Amino acid sequence: MLVKDSFSRFGTVEDHPEVLKIYCYDFTLIPRIFSRFIKRPIIVVQPRSAEDVAEIMRICERHEIPIVPRGAGTSAYGGAIPLKSCVVMDFKRMCNFEIRDGELVAQSGAVWIEMERELNRNGEALRVYPTSANVSTVGGWIAQGGYGIGSLRYGSIAENLKWLEIVDFEGIRIVKGEEMRYYVGTFGCLGIITRACIKTRKNEPINCRAVHCSFEEAISMLEGGYHASFKNSKYLSLEGFGAKDVLLICSEKGDGDETGKMMWGRRLIPLRIASKGKRIFPEVVLPHENAVKFYEYAERISEGLEVVFAKDCVVFIAALGNGYRNMLKALKIVKIAEKLGGRVYARGMLFSSGYGKDISDYKKRIDPKNLLNPGKMGWNAFSMSIGLLGKLIWTA
Ligand SMILES: Cc1cc2nc3c(=O)[nH]c(=O)nc-3n(C[C@H](O)[C@H](O)[C@H](O)COP(=O)(O)OP(=O)(O)OC[C@H]3O[C@@H](n4cnc5c(N)ncnc54)[C@H](O)[C@@H]3O)c2cc1C
Repeated sequence: MLVKDSFSRFGTVEDHPEVLKIYCYDFTLIPRIFSRFIKRPIIVVQPRSAEDVAEIMRICERHEIPIVPRGAGTSAYGGAIPLKSCVVMDFKRMCNFEIRDGELVAQSGAVWIEMERELNRNGEALRVYPTSANVSTVGGWIAQGGYGIGSLRYGSIAENLKWLEIVDFEGIRIVKGEEMRYYVGTFGCLGIITRACIKTRKNEPINCRAVHCSFEEAISMLEGGYHASFKNSKYLSLEGFGAKDVLLICSEKGDGDETGKMMWGRRLIPLRIASKGKRIFPEVVLPHENAVKFYEYAERISEGLEVVFAKDCVVFIAALGNGYRNMLKALKIVKIAEKLGGRVYARGMLFSSGYGKDISDYKKRIDPKNLLNPGKMGWNAFSMSIGLLGKLIWTA
């Protein structure tokens, strides 16, 4: 009751046990034996401004209550899953954005598709956005860090930010340039993102072609593209579509065709196969030069493969079945990617131990009590098990 009273002036506060249960999960598939490591939040608060966020953080710091920020909960890396009894900060009510002199400034709870529609009405468009754009939020995608539609031309979200407004225990401030690396892809462990200034492009029409070709041939067709993704025949048949490997190549100039147009139209309904039963989707990032080598390996052991080409790397999404054997396969995929100079796509709760010294030192300084999304930087029960299994696979 005392906790609820402290937060009640910040708009909506939820503490109904059934509602709190929803906030225990995101899109991550959790094996039953691990579910006991997930903690139910004490309360969910929905702040309306950066000032609210700063005040909530002051209360949490005073009472040493951990904080877990949350957007739409679509990440599959468990970043928004509470590993300690905590306050969940849900950004649903901070969803405003404005377009000012060609600049898009959005609150962290703004949904990507809503911004894209408004930009389009103004002759502008987002440069990059995730395929979960229909529901996912600005703060969530930046905190997960990632590639998406448009990354072939414009790179990751990190390259498409002008500045971020951050709240930490020292207050509210704007960060720019190199300093933004502390907040992009660090899952809210170093500060809460409350606003972002996002780069846009002129809304040139996107023309798409579908080309049936091998993966190696696909790589030679990327020049000048805005977006490109490749699906192998196994992936396509899981989706229930044609069964020939296909490259979707889209550009702001150039020609399109009917199949390309149809595939582009489906870009925001990805992972259709996930709705046909539980699956694991390991995601890894490879340098361009080792993509073919990795493809040959991943193609053999996965049930389907989708590849998204970005400016500086190639993102692989492998479809595997459910269960422990497939989890081991997923880990093997990560290990092979690492051997070829790649890395797991995002860290979150599952791969939380792999941050560099610079980031870890900053965490100790800015959050000495480890209240910001605890367990998502350093080891936790999940990442420890994954680390151990990874070692076993490697020595086997
Ligand atoms: C169908 C589907 C398609 C997807 N496509 C893509 C894709 O194309 N590219 C891609 O990269 N990912 C993709 N994802 C993964 C995920 O949807 C994205 O990363 C998404 O943008 C996460 O946003 P969210 O609002 O759901 O964040 P959440 O899942 O709620 O949160 C993600 C992380 O960010 C933290 N966080 C949330 N808000 C804040 C904040 N304001 N400040 C600090 N930290 C915060 C959370 O604690 C958590 O650690 C996809 C997922 C699905 C289910």
